[in-house]
Amino acid sequence: MKRPVVFLDRDGTLNEEVGYITDLSRLVLIHGAAQAIRLLNQHNVAAVLVTNQSGAARGFYPESHIQALNERLTELLKLEGAYLDGLYYCPHLPQGIVPYLAQDCLCRKPKPGMVQQAFRDNSCLDSARAYVIGDKSTDVELARNCQAKAVLVTTGFGQQVIDGSYQWKVNPDFIASNIGTAISWVINDLK
Ligand SMILES: [Zn+2]
Repeated sequence: MKRPVVFLDRDGTLNEEVGYITDLSRLVLIHGAAQAIRLLNQHNVAAVLVTNQSGAARGFYPESHIQALNERLTELLKLEGAYLDGLYYCPHLPQGIVPYLAQDCLCRKPKPGMVQQAFRDNSCLDSARAYVIGDKSTDVELARNCQAKAVLVTTGFGQQVIDGSYQWKVNPDFIASNIGTAISWVINDLK
């Protein structure tokens, strides 16, 4: 039995949007985020993080710091009994200043590389029941690029996305006020 899967953005979706996070302690969960992930865990829906993290390519911190931030996220979720089934990040940026990360990769959202990798890594994930939740138009486009349903959250940059939404080529399937509402919609949509 394959599992439905929700691909989750990080900054502005699970944790507060505060720009590039150089100090680990500034990574703070959005209220209700852990509870929402726990709901996915309880419903046997896979929760997989897919996040663009260009801070290392821009020279703001080493790539190991991206991993440290993701570990902190994992710890904060664990404190509230929630867990992620997978965790992917894209450290690349074509115009980056760190040579090994300054590349036009296949994983930077809205490209579907991280999602495709998740399906390769875990054959239990059901690509026909896939969702993307994020606060940017790139998350909505990612959903389109991998035939998933898109939920835009209005936390983070989400409200700004909506304010400029007339230029969008791709609309989300649902707009949610936060990650909790987004996941409730997913759970209901799966029924
Ligand atoms: Zn990449």
